[in-house]
Amino acid sequence: MTEWEYAKQIIDTIEQHGGEAYIVGGAVRDYVLGSLPDDIDLATSLFPEEVMALFPKSVPTGIEHGTVTVILDHHPFEVTTFRSEGSYSDSRRPDHVALGVSLEEDLLRRDFTMNAMAFHDGRVVDLFGGQHDLEERIIRTVGSPFERFGEDALRIMRALRFMSQLDFTLHDELREAASGLGHKLEQIAMERIAIEFEKLLTGPAYKKALGEMVELGIHRHLPNVTTELMQRVQEDNRTPVNAVSGWALFLYRAQDDGWLSPWKRSNAIKREARTLAQLCETGLDRMTIYATDEQTLSTYFRMNGERDRSRELKQSLPMTSRKELKFNGRDALALGARGEAIKHLLADLERRVILNELPNHETVLKEEAKRWLQRAGVF
Ligand code: ATP
Ligand code: MG
Repeated sequence: MTEWEYAKQIIDTIEQHGGEAYIVGGAVRDYVLGSLPDDIDLATSLFPEEVMALFPKSVPTGIEHGTVTVILDHHPFEVTTFRSEGSYSDSRRPDHVALGVSLEEDLLRRDFTMNAMAFHDGRVVDLFGGQHDLEERIIRTVGSPFERFGEDALRIMRALRFMSQLDFTLHDELREAASGLGHKLEQIAMERIAIEFEKLLTGPAYKKALGEMVELGIHRHLPNVTTELMQRVQEDNRTPVNAVSGWALFLYRAQDDGWLSPWKRSNAIKREARTLAQLCETGLDRMTIYATDEQTLSTYFRMNGERDRSRELKQSLPMTSRKELKFNGRDALALGARGEAIKHLLADLERRVILNELPNHETVLKEEAKRWLQRAGVF
């Protein structure tokens, strides 16, 4: 069964029990565009407890917003009760959400006309001209952009990331509102901004979206982002191929190891981005290939638009880690080395094995270690 057929099954089940259900949001947008959606979200008139009662495998993944995840044959679907949002006094979150409203009201709370359509029985419910805007390749808010960005400034970032992902343009009034209300992004949780920014960076039209961001002055409300840095990133020949390579490009172009700190990314992302930025700085040699894991190397090749040689380069090395070195700390102790000398000796032998100056061979390394310790004055 395809994802659409599973979704249809959920809709049928809900309707057999007196409810209404529609496919909504990004999946409808992608359907109209003729592309396959990543995931299919549904909206229903039923309350979360009613949805859970109908589907044996369901998880209350966001019950306070009315969301239940229904699982059919291991395929998850988010099923959310029609909801409207109360006033936003903080430009971030609605003061309250009301469940159990109509489909129309549910569509009205959505950000852009292209994201505010519903699909049912082979027909698209399009109350705000979403299909027209998709055809014109224009991003337009549902209602006044000044009001909608005033309610939730994250929508400014979302507009720019969809611009990048779809290669669309922003409606004039939306641009004006984004420019005027960009400062409200400073009240939004950094994690949420960073997630939209990652999607922007990995979109096909990311340069256009970054250019628009500068033109609208939005970048001034993002941490550590200067106009100059934005220009340097756009001029770079490398391309972000995933989130971490996007961050790496900014790190490398900013020439600042701490650049990522305020963006609140995970330690794993920060570490890998730093490694990639370092590779951009130095290029590859045998030691950097040895020290970098294969997946990061692969990202490096892809962001440079080169054939991915990560596997073959890794395999061309005499060993993959210090553990494989045929001389270890205990061997060094046995030769009378102590403390710091052991560390330096092992690092030196390791480096020379990797550079093919020495074979990774027990007796050879032991003889070499003796000579090294003699030179270092241990004997
Ligand atoms: P993607 O394919 O990248 O997931 P999407 O359109 O599904 O795109 P989501 O972030 O998954 O984007 O959001 C799902 C839907 O929820 C959107 O299509 C939109 O209708 C609505 N939505 C999401 N965030 C907001 C928001 N900040 N304000 C209003 N509506 C929103
Ligand atoms: Mg989605």
